Amino acid sequence: MSASRHPALLSTDPELASFVAAEEVLQAQTLRLIPSENYVSAAVLEASGTVLQNKYSEGYPGRRYYEGQQNIDRVEALAIERAKGLFGVDHANVQPYSGSPANLAVYLAFAKPGDTVMGMALPMGGHLTHGWGVSATGSWFRGVQYGVRADTGLIDYDAVREQALAERPKLIFCGGTALPRTIDFAAFAEIAKEAGSILVADVAHIAGLIAGGAHPSPADHVDVISTTTHKTLRGPRGAMLMCREEHAKAIDKAVFPGLQGGPHNQTTAGIAVALHEAAQPSFTAYAHQVVASAKALAAALLQKGFDLVSGGTDNHLILIDLTGKDVPGKIAAKALDRAGIVVNYNTVPFDPRKPFDPSGVRIGTPSLTSRGLSTEHMPVVADWISRAVDAAAKGDEQALAVIRAEVTDLMAAFPAPGLPLS
Ligand SMILES: *Cc1c(COP(=O)(O)O)cnc(C)c1O
Repeated sequence: MSASRHPALLSTDPELASFVAAEEVLQAQTLRLIPSENYVSAAVLEASGTVLQNKYSEGYPGRRYYEGQQNIDRVEALAIERAKGLFGVDHANVQPYSGSPANLAVYLAFAKPGDTVMGMALPMGGHLTHGWGVSATGSWFRGVQYGVRADTGLIDYDAVREQALAERPKLIFCGGTALPRTIDFAAFAEIAKEAGSILVADVAHIAGLIAGGAHPSPADHVDVISTTTHKTLRGPRGAMLMCREEHAKAIDKAVFPGLQGGPHNQTTAGIAVALHEAAQPSFTAYAHQVVASAKALAAALLQKGFDLVSGGTDNHLILIDLTGKDVPGKIAAKALDRAGIVVNYNTVPFDPRKPFDPSGVRIGTPSLTSRGLSTEHMPVVADWISRAVDAAAKGDEQALAVIRAEVTDLMAAFPAPGLPLS
């Protein structure tokens, strides 16, 4: 593999080109299990690197503050139409720069500083932007948090209801970053209605599963859907806000001019392509395979003696609880990295350890499924994870090197989308 697939970059800035080339090798050779990551297609990569980059386009299609928008308007209108069709919503805004600013726009649209907002606690699997203290959303608003039950690892909807009726939050967020189970949008909708709250489904992690019919859709239940475009949806780094017609104006106004300036048109183009890809039958098959492989991987890990939060998974994500093992999450994650298996360490609900040194490891199947690995490969993946965690406990670097060679060998047979052949 060489940097020559970016010839201009190589000649202008060989140092930077070498970093990109090294990242291509890393992404090709490793088994990437971080559940929020993926491989975009070559088409999405191309669309996101176009001259659309050169245009300023404050405003919305047909209502811009700059001239020369003939083509940009068509790009953005196409992305919007595709989002509406794929997710079954009245309105879509494809301009948010990423998931966090998209969520901030929701606050701006519906709440005032100091208002109460409710989301899942970060250490329970929620996201920073759902009112957690260290986030602007938790310091400018009064964040109250719900969690999961200690005995089941599942959301206790009765407890959420009780809390919502006591707090009467302006906003309720459902969704998160470490939730291995199906979200009951209808249950949240009933609670939000009773409490008089705006309900936001933050489906950043599961948008691709929803698009592919492998997770129920929130479209008929919630006021606003917030999502990133770069996780299971397999688009460029970006985000979308979707809603019914009644909230369209408030959402658009909050994104621009409320929070952002010009949209990133090259990203909008990449989103349009990703939405087109996600509407194909092959993507439906992809989404279902992601879930099937995650279930198979969970079953194989349980067989190896691992504890999994909630006992398994319904979606793309598995949270391994290492509390009962000799190795905490960070040490396990770093050992897995040396073995060519890329994961992230993560808190588990009721974690006895600190967030920067927690007890869990979070894994998922979106990336490996994009490379064509399937259910039958999950026992070997579980075996690698088990051997690597054992090796980490014993400080056995040789064992990690052996696993790394096996991983590199298998991955060479599954070329990654968007990457040159290794
Ligand atoms: C990833 C994620 C976000 C934030 O997205 P960024 O693009 O990293 O800002 C927000 N909410 C949830 C649930 C996420 O998983």
